[in-house]
Amino acid sequence: MLVVMRQDATSGQIAGVVRAIEARGFKAHPIPGAQRTAIGITGNRGAVDRPVFESLPGVLEVIPVTHAYKLVSREVKPEDTIVDVGGVPVGGKEFVIAAGPCAVESREQMLTAARHVKAAGARLLRGGAFKPRTSPYAFQGLGEEGLQILAAARAETGLPVVTEALDAEGVDLVEKYADAIQVGARNMQNFSLLRRCGKARKPVLLKRGLAATLEEFLMSAEYMLAEGNYQVILCERGVRTFSDFARNTLDLAVVPAVKALSHLPILVDPSHGTGRRDKVVAMSRGAAAVGADGLIIEVHHDPDTALSDGPQSITPEMFASLVGELRQIAPVLGRTL
Ligand code: PEP
Ligand code: MN
Repeated sequence: MLVVMRQDATSGQIAGVVRAIEARGFKAHPIPGAQRTAIGITGNRGAVDRPVFESLPGVLEVIPVTHAYKLVSREVKPEDTIVDVGGVPVGGKEFVIAAGPCAVESREQMLTAARHVKAAGARLLRGGAFKPRTSPYAFQGLGEEGLQILAAARAETGLPVVTEALDAEGVDLVEKYADAIQVGARNMQNFSLLRRCGKARKPVLLKRGLAATLEEFLMSAEYMLAEGNYQVILCERGVRTFSDFARNTLDLAVVPAVKALSHLPILVDPSHGTGRRDKVVAMSRGAAAVGADGLIIEVHHDPDTALSDGPQSITPEMFASLVGELRQIAPVLGRTL
């Protein structure tokens, strides 16, 4: 249920509605908009007594939210959400590129990548300190040392850092160092992790599960908004299909589908989305064209020796050339880069 306030409603009237919602044991989510404030109600098991809220001062109308997800829905918030990642706005006019290696392998490797991607025009730095690997014998990441290296790379380049937390217990540490917490594809329905991220004070980059429907994807984001973290960025990273020419099938059609249903920004990850270096550039162009708010790309200075995801990592040269192309594409779409 959504309580829509009149355009001239005072902050006292908004606070009054919040109190009335909380007095019934529900959770109130005030959502300021360009025209007026709306207040989402969650936590109610049955129907909300509409006339009670309709009669409160400053209330314009009380409307039911038809989708299963509420707070992520455009019904609740028509305007696009802009998420601030360490000072970089994601979801606004700017097409934002996050880039860096799959995993932090060493100080030299991470700083080399950071310098290259910064020089080429990346706005955010990626790199995993905790890696979700299919094999328990594969490189699992440097852990806290990796986070410290990321912090050093941020200090040198000024690029805010996006890095993954593998479980709810791991969020404390990641939150201390990162500018945005990544929730990986395999964890999209790790509900205790989602709830913990919902309590975090940092933005979250939520990757779509390998076999997740759009509704499941949005419901996972809803977990975090329901806990009070409205700073969520979605990320399409490819899904499993019968396709045998790529690691995953990058579902670019989900971008306009998300845009129609949700106000949250969405990035595209063409690296995991294809799994092949030779397809990353083409799919990046495509992602910009379909209206993504930006990209997250794996870049390694020597991909053949990378400890994880080398086959899909592009070189700094390829990255710089791609950014040059995107700088030509962006203005056609009314975006800056
Ligand atoms: C990654 O970003 O390196 C990663 C493991 O991504 P995903 O969860 O999408 O596989
Ligand atoms: Mn990776």
